[in-house]
Formats: sequence, structure tokens, C-alpha cells
Amino acid sequence: MSTPSTPPAFELHRTDTPLPAGERAALLAEPRFGTVFTDHMARVSWTTVDGWHAYRVEPYGPLRMDPASAVLHYAQEIFEGLKAYRHPDGSVWTFRPQANAARFARSAQRLALPELSEADFVESLRALVDVDRDWVPSGEETSLYLRPFMYASEKFLGVRASHEVEYLVIASPVGAYFPGGVRPVSIWVEKGYHRASPGGTGAAKCGGNYAASLLPQAQAHERGCDQVCFLDASTGSYLEELGGMNVMVVDADGTVRTPPVTDSILEGVTRSSILQLLTDAGHEVREEPIALADLLTDIETGAVAEMFACGTAAVMTPIGRLVGDGFDVTVNGSTPGPVTMAIRTELTDIQYGRRPDRHAWMRRLA
Ligand SMILES: *Cc1c(COP(=O)(O)O)cnc(C)c1O
Repeated sequence: MSTPSTPPAFELHRTDTPLPAGERAALLAEPRFGTVFTDHMARVSWTTVDGWHAYRVEPYGPLRMDPASAVLHYAQEIFEGLKAYRHPDGSVWTFRPQANAARFARSAQRLALPELSEADFVESLRALVDVDRDWVPSGEETSLYLRPFMYASEKFLGVRASHEVEYLVIASPVGAYFPGGVRPVSIWVEKGYHRASPGGTGAAKCGGNYAASLLPQAQAHERGCDQVCFLDASTGSYLEELGGMNVMVVDADGTVRTPPVTDSILEGVTRSSILQLLTDAGHEVREEPIALADLLTDIETGAVAEMFACGTAAVMTPIGRLVGDGFDVTVNGSTPGPVTMAIRTELTDIQYGRRPDRHAWMRRLA
């Protein structure tokens, strides 16, 4: 683990050509996820000889990259995702960045990349948002999405951990995930492909996991489903998670169940925050394996009342339909359930500064 220390200052190299305020305002009014980026990016370099060095914030722009850069061949890469929220008084905050820093360090370890300290990780977010604070939108459920990532930049085709690495943070203003109100999604339960396997990289946030999920995701789309839920690779019987979101089941008696974190499930910050809020609200919370066969029966009998997926981008997405080989069932009449919506409101109220932050989850950035 990283030890607390004073992080090095990020040297600021301002862009000579920031986007004019009028054009920025037009983009912020209707941002499409992941298509628009702010004027700057934070960056730190690493080599085996010098360690982490050259902490800077520089103009956003294309990277120079050798065609033999290791990441392009062997996918030695990790990333994170979190948001900066504008509060009613104009200040800008982020949510549990220490948790993302810790997960980034765990991902780095699994992908044989160097660990960045928690202090450096949090300071990189602060330094970028400080200079690009005007890019944080203020509309309802809008935010500035922060994307830290690290990749193997060494020019070398040999198969071993890279001796040169780049760490960057880019930021993208995003609109409300559900502009027309929260809408349940349909889920294809995938039996043929797996996202992760025991001993694999499922618990690390690495691009390779996402690459492996794209084909089943495209096939699910062809079958009329929005998202894929993967099953465990050992038995093919238990729910794991979606391609980029964890999954939970709300029983009719108010108990909430979610698969336990293993080395094939990514431990979501949203997941653990929701489990805390549910516990606070008096729900029984159980982290235990959920067998698909039992789940289908429990949906039919009404023992399961709601299902939802959770992650930073959408916060909580109700699951209205489960489809797979030989079944097609509706959950809660395909409408958002009351437990899902109550916790979603509470969590977003904390994130947007509309409700006391009793767990000290929020961290001021600007
Ligand atoms: C990022 C991610 C999640 C959600 O994590 P949050 O910290 O809640 O955003 C869930 N599953 C996978 C596979 C992920 O990559």
C-alpha cells in the first residue's frame, strides 16, 4: 500500500488555444459520453531507472507513440473511472477517490505495472480539475468524467513487463445517463463466453477484459438486449457481473444479495457504497453466490422483487428483463423498483452535495 506523503507538484503547461467560452458552453449543454475532452491532461512518466517523474499538466492532444510500444502488442494497460460533481455553491468534488487509487494500485500489480501512490493519484485529479474547472457542467446529473489510465510505452517486442510507462488523466464532460428518466435495461445472460476466469484478470480494471466482452455484447445487441451478464467460468451456473457493472438482487423481504468479490469480479466503488447505504437503511445485505436457476425460479414466484446493475457511469440501472437460452423473464413489471430508486436518489444526493456526506466520501477538487 502507498504511504501518505506530500505529493509532488504537477507543473502546469497551459494550452495557448483553450476552447473559447462560448463553444465550451455549447458543448457542456449537451455532452455526448466520451466524445468531448477538456483543454488539458495530467501526465506522469515512469522508467525502471528514474521511477515516477515529470509530473505535469499539459495541453490535451495526441500522444506520440512508437509502433513497437508494448501496449499495442501485449495490452499491458489499466484504467479507472470516476466523476467530478459541481455542488450548489459552485465548488467541485469527487467521490471516494482513495478507493479508486487503491484499486488502480491493485490493477497495476496484476498487470505488472508500477504502482502510483494514492497521494499522486488524487493529486493528479486535483491538478487537472483545478485548471479545467470551467469544464465541470452544472446541469442535473451532469458531471466531468475522469479517466486515469496507465500503459506500457517501451519500444520493445519482447514479452516482459515494460521498462517505460506513461500515466495520464483525461476528462470528459458527460450529461445525464438517463435524460428521459431512469429506464430499465434488458440483459442477455451469456452461457458461451466468459468475461473472466479464476486466476485471470477479472478483478483488475484492464482494457483487455473489455476487449473480451465486445463480441458477446454485440451479439446480445443483435438479440435485442442492452447488456450482457456473465456467469462464472468454472460451473457456468452463478451470476458474476456485467461487462462494466456489478449486479444486485432485491428480495421481496428487503434482503439485498450480490455475488461476493472474487478474482473474477471487479470490486465496484458504487457496489460497496450501495451496500453501505442499504445497511444504514436497515436492509439485510448478503454477499453470496447467486445461482441463475434459483434466480429464475425466484423471479417467477415473486421472491425476487427487483434487480439492478451499478457502476460509476449510470450509478444504478434497473434490470427489467433477463433473457438467455430457453428463458425470457420480466423483473418488477419492467419498471424501476422502489428500493433501487430510493438508494439511487440517496447516493446521487450525496455526490451532488444535496445531502450530508455522513461517511466522508466526498473529496474537494476545486
Ligand atoms: C469499473 C467496473 C465496475 C464498476 O465499478 P465502479 O467503481 O462502481 O465504477 C464493475 N465491473 C467492471 C467489470 C468494471 O470495469
